[in-house]
Amino acid sequence: MKILVLNCGSSSLKYQLIDMDNESVLAKGLCERIGIDGSKLTHKPAGKDEFVLETPMNNHEVAVKLVLDALVDSAHGVIGSVDEISAVGHRVLHGGATYSESIVVDADVKKVIRECFELGPLHNPANLIGIEACEAAMPGKKNVAVFDTAFHQTMPEKSYLYGIPYEYYEKYHIRRYGFHGTSHSFVSKRAIELLGLDKNNSKVIVCHLGNGASLSAVLNGKCFDTSMGLTPLEGLIMGTRSGDIDPAVIQFIANKEGKDINEMLNILNKKSGVLGMSGVSSDFRDVAKAAKEGNHQAKVALEAYVQRVLRYIGAYVAEMNGVDAIVFTAGVGENDGGMRKAFCDNLTYLGVKIDDEKNKLRGEEVVISTPDSKVKVAVIPTNEELAIARETLALI
Ligand code: AMP
Repeated sequence: MKILVLNCGSSSLKYQLIDMDNESVLAKGLCERIGIDGSKLTHKPAGKDEFVLETPMNNHEVAVKLVLDALVDSAHGVIGSVDEISAVGHRVLHGGATYSESIVVDADVKKVIRECFELGPLHNPANLIGIEACEAAMPGKKNVAVFDTAFHQTMPEKSYLYGIPYEYYEKYHIRRYGFHGTSHSFVSKRAIELLGLDKNNSKVIVCHLGNGASLSAVLNGKCFDTSMGLTPLEGLIMGTRSGDIDPAVIQFIANKEGKDINEMLNILNKKSGVLGMSGVSSDFRDVAKAAKEGNHQAKVALEAYVQRVLRYIGAYVAEMNGVDAIVFTAGVGENDGGMRKAFCDNLTYLGVKIDDEKNKLRGEEVVISTPDSKVKVAVIPTNEELAIARETLALI
């Protein structure tokens, strides 16, 4: 059985076609610059040459058609016809408070995705277009929505309510939702398996450290707290997002620079984080290189990044009254041993001890703590596409 996984961003579409008989990727690819000049499809079929097509893509509907064409193409395709696709799994950013699990898309589901446009203005509209484009191109085929917020719906009120008048929660559902849920769910489940923990008596902290970054406290297999909030802006310092700041900063800069609230949020989302602090790049490799070459701002940006992660780890240990395992995932978490060492060197108060040789490994599943470490520490590569495909298969 073959499942197509789609992840539509505001101007991009990532896809994977997965053969669920052995969970192998038959083809994957990316449509970039949808709706702007220079649109491009990069299609990577397993065992064949990469195919690149530069052609206008005015919207996601066009992009979906090009992806399906590429998948069935006689030269670089991997299936004979779209009939071979059993269902499509869609990553959907925001399911609000309605969905705590993935669901087969129907009119009600689309209504909720639409109602959440305000909460996910860049992604939810693109996610819905992706779903409707698949409905049009492959009538009768099941589409499954896998929400980035779903895993965090088990958070208790004390974790998800903001310290603001309750009327805003009642009137507008202003609360913390959390994101990267598919990754936190996939990685925490795998950690419990890999480390032999008792799911019903386990305390796991998942550190999803990529360009976007978030931590979650997973108590007995369920999300208890997470660092992102109403939107992905809250929490850690990220590639381009500020993470937590005093909201008064917004008013102060807006007044001084004559900017409105939308411009300010654009700065906090796209021009801040390690990019804004270092003035170098949002890519941690570039910032680390600059820091090594003596760039003070780059050095401090990385130090602040590490400190914010440590702050959240400390908070989550306190909230759960302990921790059995700390797990690193995503671009930085999976690849940057130096960064992992910087975190772990400050976690000796928990009894964390890591094996420096094992910590040098990159991008593979590995337990990096020593046998006598009081807390287990592991690297578990995230695989959001496979998690979406598994959820889709389970629902169809
Ligand atoms: P993601 O959003 O999960 O794709 O992660 C992207 C981030 O991972 C980028 O900021 C990269 O700098 C970072 N990254 C990827 N590979 C490495 C590496 N080998 N060392 C340090 N950072 C890396």
